[in-house]
Amino acid sequence: MRIIFLGPPGAGKGTQSAWLLDHLRVPHLSTGDMLRSAVTEGGPLGQKVAQYLSAGQLVPDEIVVELVRERLTKPDCRAGCLLDGFPRTLGQARALDEILAKAGVPLDLVLELVVGEPQLLARLAGRGRSDDLLEIVRQRLDIYRDRTSPLLDYYRQQGILRSIDGTGSPASVRAQINEVVDRTRAAK
Ligand code: AMP
Repeated sequence: MRIIFLGPPGAGKGTQSAWLLDHLRVPHLSTGDMLRSAVTEGGPLGQKVAQYLSAGQLVPDEIVVELVRERLTKPDCRAGCLLDGFPRTLGQARALDEILAKAGVPLDLVLELVVGEPQLLARLAGRGRSDDLLEIVRQRLDIYRDRTSPLLDYYRQQGILRSIDGTGSPASVRAQINEVVDRTRAAK
């Protein structure tokens, strides 16, 4: 199964992707993790992306797409993967479709975790963030709304979008995800 996990910062993707990976037993493709380790390694790529990461801005599509292309062609991804934090723009979504079409494999499911902005801000403020950090969070929410939320229509048109109410307890969100994933798997 190839699954994309979509949702704004603070929606609970981290918590839910941990058990989903365990359930599916597929590799976790997190572009955030890949970019952070590039920065830690400190090579030319890391130097190029460091400023985007610290400013909470999106890294240019061509850089992220190349990272994902390279990762997706590794043998462990043949049976599937969980894409987390990618794609984040329409350009990335189209590039992903091309990569998968070339490999002759389908995208099975796009899971959207839905949590409203006021609740996201309340959750993040509840974690005791400083005003500076809240400003960055707000900016990341704006970026999600402007650049990433158009993907919802894109995948809705492909008929593979499933939206999940992310406002309940982690266990209830998990149960909903479980049901959608198992139903999709059974239909394959
Ligand atoms: P994340 O851990 O997914 O929240 O990503 C952390 C940061 O990495 C983001 O704020 C962006 O600066 C960058 N990043 C991660 N994934 C992408 C992506 N698909 N496109 C552009 N930038 C990304």
